[in-house]
Amino acid sequence: MPPVVDDPLFFLDYDGTLAPIVDDPEAAVPHPEAPDLLRELEAHYPLWIVTGRDLQALSSFLDRPYRAIGLHGAQEGIVGRETNNLMSDAAAEALRRLRTSVPSIEGLRVEEKDQSFAVHYRDVKDEPGIRARLDEWLADLPEVLDAIWGKKVVELRPAGLTKGTAVHRIAEAHPDRVPVYLGDDVTDEDAFAALQDMNREAVTIKIGGDDTRAAARLDGPDAVMDYLHRYL
Ligand SMILES: [Mg+2]
Repeated sequence: MPPVVDDPLFFLDYDGTLAPIVDDPEAAVPHPEAPDLLRELEAHYPLWIVTGRDLQALSSFLDRPYRAIGLHGAQEGIVGRETNNLMSDAAAEALRRLRTSVPSIEGLRVEEKDQSFAVHYRDVKDEPGIRARLDEWLADLPEVLDAIWGKKVVELRPAGLTKGTAVHRIAEAHPDRVPVYLGDDVTDEDAFAALQDMNREAVTIKIGGDDTRAAARLDGPDAVMDYLHRYL
């Protein structure tokens, strides 16, 4: 079990950490223990939810206005309430332009995310073919954007804004706390790296078996609930 610290500053990823991974992202309800647990943790400690989703989309799953980082670090705000988009006008404009040129291919699905978007190709039959088409489409990607390849999805994001930059900023504002970060995504690695580079005590926990920079591991949302209960 990862260490339990006295004065945590929680960063909790949503999908795969607080909610089991399901095929349909619209059906990703929190673990049954999560709503009560989050309410109690937030009453005692500073807590941020971290997600690649748009924060407005998260409000259908979380019943309270938690502080949160959305769009993998490009958004900060309150779930279901006000959000602050951190991306530059140049990145927003480049995203709008790219959105109009997504290849038109059967099975390709675009997920709209406030000012960004992701292209899912899970349902496209010819996988090597679609990868080549998408590589070609993204060949002249402007510097203000990053293309992040995930599991049968490519997501367009403003460059230079990651879960790591967000966590760094928030951790700096809480010098007397120990950041405790739990996440399962490739993009959570930016946060693990940022916390380790800050040269201060931190608890970094990877959910699942993928390669990681995190110092500890838990194997899924059930184990996450057991670990977080130890703070109450
Ligand atoms: Mg996740």
